[in-house]
Amino acid sequence: MVNFFKRLIEFLYPPLCPVCGEFVGMHGNLCAKCWSEFNWISNPKCYKCGYPFPADLDLGLKPLCPHCAAGECDLDFIRSACVYDDVSKNIMLPFKHASCLKYQTLMSNAMINSLRDLNLDIDVVLPVPLAYKRLFKRGYNQATLLARPIAKYFNAVLDVDSISRKYRHDMGHKSAKQRRENVHGVFDVLNTKNISGKKILLVDDVMTSGATFYELNRVLRRAGASAVYAVSFCRVVHAI
Ligand SMILES: [Zn+2]
Ligand SMILES: [Zn+2]
Repeated sequence: MVNFFKRLIEFLYPPLCPVCGEFVGMHGNLCAKCWSEFNWISNPKCYKCGYPFPADLDLGLKPLCPHCAAGECDLDFIRSACVYDDVSKNIMLPFKHASCLKYQTLMSNAMINSLRDLNLDIDVVLPVPLAYKRLFKRGYNQATLLARPIAKYFNAVLDVDSISRKYRHDMGHKSAKQRRENVHGVFDVLNTKNISGKKILLVDDVMTSGATFYELNRVLRRAGASAVYAVSFCRVVHAI
């Protein structure tokens, strides 16, 4: 009987590739052709911040990029599912600005996959907050949409109330240093009790220079967070 209903639902609402509309095995999955067009981040990558290294390098089990080796990354781990390029941009921008929700499952599943080998124990999943002005204009925070299934997967609390963000002008095409300055001091902890002693996973759609994650990490550590991880769907990969 369960099988009958399952088949009926699949007949009425067939699983389709969210990019091209081809039939696929499961809702939210990409077809093989679309999947192969993404620049997924796999090994070798920096064990700490997830920076992807060229595929033919053999760097051992837990290689570090120059920034992490120099102790410049204060987060415990950062992971991203894929590189920011024309393919991932075509998913991310409609999702972010036009509430194109058909990509949500694909994006959050890819983010969960990128974290799988770390076997993390997470208490709180915290989507990177939007300033209220932006939230009211857009109507939703795209990071919260991605964070919800991730919190469910880790059996963690989804926290959208403990941190607030002040409005600042868009960062646009700025240097890493300007981004750091622009984001400095924008986050406030509203509820230290929810942060203190907790292992926290930050969630965002894209990581550009990492300035937002670094600043949130600074604020969360000051409020007593015991571990801070971050995950994004895609990541701008600069030469280092
Ligand atoms: Zn497809
Ligand atoms: Zn690194």
